[in-house]
Amino acid sequence: MSFDQQETFSVEPVAITAQDRLKELGMFLSPGIDYDLDKIFPKVEGWGWKLPFKLKYKLLKNFEALLEECLFEGEKVLFFAKGNQHSVTEAVFMGIWANGINHTVFVLTNVRLLMLRTNSKGKPKKTFWMIYYNQIVQFKGNWHGMLKLKLKDGRKLSFSGFAKQDRKTMPAIFEQALKNFRQTKFEPQVSQSLENLCSHCLDKVPKDEFLCETCDTTFWSPKELAIRSFIFPSWGDFLMGHTFIAFLEMFGGLSSWTYLLTGLSKLLKTGDLTELLAPIIFFLLVNGFDALFTYHIASKGLHPKFLPTKISPQLNLEA
Ligand SMILES: [Zn+2]
Repeated sequence: MSFDQQETFSVEPVAITAQDRLKELGMFLSPGIDYDLDKIFPKVEGWGWKLPFKLKYKLLKNFEALLEECLFEGEKVLFFAKGNQHSVTEAVFMGIWANGINHTVFVLTNVRLLMLRTNSKGKPKKTFWMIYYNQIVQFKGNWHGMLKLKLKDGRKLSFSGFAKQDRKTMPAIFEQALKNFRQTKFEPQVSQSLENLCSHCLDKVPKDEFLCETCDTTFWSPKELAIRSFIFPSWGDFLMGHTFIAFLEMFGGLSSWTYLLTGLSKLLKTGDLTELLAPIIFFLLVNGFDALFTYHIASKGLHPKFLPTKISPQLNLEA
């Protein structure tokens, strides 16, 4: 080709891809996972692209070992973002503190939605779920980033708190993933629409079961945790790894026990049984409420009691 011929070509600007940006920044994602990078990193140029890109990469790296453990053969990661799951009960009783225990990473693949609890900094905790797309009967995403799902077994879930870019792109990616999945006519069997996953091996743990058949991890039942919270408010939440909330509840426990013990010492001095009436009512109210609340939170997912003795070295989970 002569120089003259070359000049006649118009030079189209080549679009920058997420892959280019990863290379450029010296970032490296596991080749063992099939990522749809351009969907996961929707903004790769223009004003302010770099910070969200780096944050998403950091978050993704925190979860790579877990994803490698749980993705099926041929399963592709289409989208990945951190948000917050909403619970009306928790919002009423805990206000903004509820957000602290509901940070969740959402992974959309070609077959299911994985929901992985994290701490506020995006490090994985131990409670995980999945929803196969055939379990989603209704999906709604609105302009201010609230995402609502209605599941086949009647459960309703809502999420928000996604980053700006994710709010924009997630609804369309979700819709498309659901549409593509429906065309496959694949009908996986489930024990409930929102299936619990094992904290250790990420295999499915069926509804109302508290032992993972695959790796022998045992989980607390909501009743076991509620009884502990009744004995001393905060105990159940400590066991679930909700340290901050547990510290708040501890004040309730300290006051109900102090009041009860004071009543008891008065009874011993005076022999008057009525000294105990108010402390007992207070104890039943405070500890009873905490037990009910612990039961509600514990029923949402699995919380490990005993991990198997052989723990995969790559799974370094936050307590
Ligand atoms: Zn397991």
